[in-house]
Amino acid sequence: MYIEELKPGVTRISASPDWPRPYVGVGGAMHGNEPCGAEAISRIALAFEEGTLAPAKGTIFLVHANPLATAQGRRHTPEGEDLNRLWDFEFTETLREDAWGYEHHRVLELKDVLGELDVFLDLHSAGTSTPAFGVSNGEAQIDEIAKQIGIAYLVQSWYGLADKVIIGFLKLTGVPALSVECGAHDDPEISDKAQQIALSFLRVTGAIDDGHASNGSDVRTVHVVEKITKPSKEFYFGEQWTGFQTLAPGTLLGRDRVTEIRVSQRCYAVLPNLDVDVGDDVIYLAVDT
Ligand SMILES: [Zn+2]
Repeated sequence: MYIEELKPGVTRISASPDWPRPYVGVGGAMHGNEPCGAEAISRIALAFEEGTLAPAKGTIFLVHANPLATAQGRRHTPEGEDLNRLWDFEFTETLREDAWGYEHHRVLELKDVLGELDVFLDLHSAGTSTPAFGVSNGEAQIDEIAKQIGIAYLVQSWYGLADKVIIGFLKLTGVPALSVECGAHDDPEISDKAQQIALSFLRVTGAIDDGHASNGSDVRTVHVVEKITKPSKEFYFGEQWTGFQTLAPGTLLGRDRVTEIRVSQRCYAVLPNLDVDVGDDVIYLAVDT
């Protein structure tokens, strides 16, 4: 077995010194306050080093996306930006290089490695409890893969985010990719869940063959059709929503002193999070396909 640190935070592993395709990537901690993915890939790297896990075909890439923010326990570094909102690379045209922060440099450092992959899994966690769900970029067999890794919901399109996130960049380059929200940051089992999802992904893509069956389950496919931004500091939810809670027509989603937001059709609450700045996304709404 061959294992090599290709760049800071990027390790490649293969049974062959030629590093053959397919290139199967698993990334974690794009957001530094979501360490479950980084923990999952470091456990998997250790299992390869110790010989309890072996690569089968192709080459595996394990990517700790934002090590500096992870060390700081922050979503992104104070001088930088959200690493998962830079994948349109617009800042290279609009922001002087001397104003770039860590994440601006990091996204360019990761661009070539990730753009060369044949398939990619991107692991996240959420501010409130949620069943594990994936966000597909719609390329090739990614939806079939997603249905075998132990998630409950698959989001097919994400209104308002598509071009800035890693899976959007990979869609442009034709790479099947999936972001997975494994559960809440503070779930004591979150790293175990992330590790199970990552191992299932490596199995289904054929990158490992450890004799375990794949994790097929009923997966409901939904579309995110609305994002609600926090209208004021006084805004609060009608109830303490949890991820994928079903909202009936007429439900009071939230209110502040002067406005009230109700849903007009049956939908799901996705990633409810009151702990954001005014103007940032406080909840998303999804409907069945
Ligand atoms: Zn995240």
